[in-house]
Amino acid sequence: MLIFTKKNELSEQLETLRNKGLKLGFVPTMGALHKGHISLIETSRQQADVTICSVFVNPTQFNDKGDLERYPRTPEQDTAMLREAGCDILFLPSVAEIYDGSPDEQIDLGYLNHILEAAHRPGHFDGVAQVVSRFFKIVKPDLAFFGSKDYQQVMVVKRLAEVLHLPVHIIACPIIRESDGLAMSSRNTLLSAEERQAAAQVPQLLNQAKALQKQNNPDTVRRNITEMASAIPNSRLDYFEIADALTLKPLQSWQEAEKAVALVAIYIGRTRLIDNLILY
Ligand code: AMP
Repeated sequence: MLIFTKKNELSEQLETLRNKGLKLGFVPTMGALHKGHISLIETSRQQADVTICSVFVNPTQFNDKGDLERYPRTPEQDTAMLREAGCDILFLPSVAEIYDGSPDEQIDLGYLNHILEAAHRPGHFDGVAQVVSRFFKIVKPDLAFFGSKDYQQVMVVKRLAEVLHLPVHIIACPIIRESDGLAMSSRNTLLSAEERQAAAQVPQLLNQAKALQKQNNPDTVRRNITEMASAIPNSRLDYFEIADALTLKPLQSWQEAEKAVALVAIYIGRTRLIDNLILY
């Protein structure tokens, strides 16, 4: 596995590979890697000729400074896991290398930048859009792989690629879960033993929403799940929403959408977890 810290050196290497006609697959991450990330690497290896992974804790997408400081960082372990997974190229840039003073792209994310994660983490997706557009300019991938755990983020990245007319194909990959159902997340390492136990109830909220969907209208499901969430020890619900899976517009009736998704964001102690489930 080749490791780059300088964008110019990486771009040069990738240009050589591109000129050989090789298809480039890109997996951007913030490190503290787990099996969810590795599943993206594996999918990229299946679909692309060369897999590039970036590990970069992007400061501009953290609206909470404490969250940025607490964010886990395990660069040695990440490097070993990527090597083991057969990743071809690792990009490990510094903050100054990415935010080099060049102006931000103006990207209108529209409705996506006003709801759910955007409403609860102001500026978050502007930061995501900035870092992803900067990475896309450096890597110029043919394919880019993102986890559906960050459901809204996948939509944001697709929108960004469209607005900037980038010839990249965005691929949404399934959520990888622990054996008790908790979605894998770098943030899970921040949970105490009791919090980790409580966190196992988060996917149960979504499973229960799916079970209730058949016999109840969306508002009844919302009320039920909100009440169920309030019983999770040491938790604070940020939002629970049922939305059209294609637009993320909240649903009043099931007839409004061909496909529906339930989305949750919840604090367990100080740690904010997100998850989602397609209902139908
Ligand atoms: P992060 O390092 O949290 O920014 O995540 C990097 C990429 O890995 C994003 O596209 C995430 O959606 C994806 N990812 C994170 N957790 C999981 C998971 N449990 N299953 C699948 N993909 C994931």
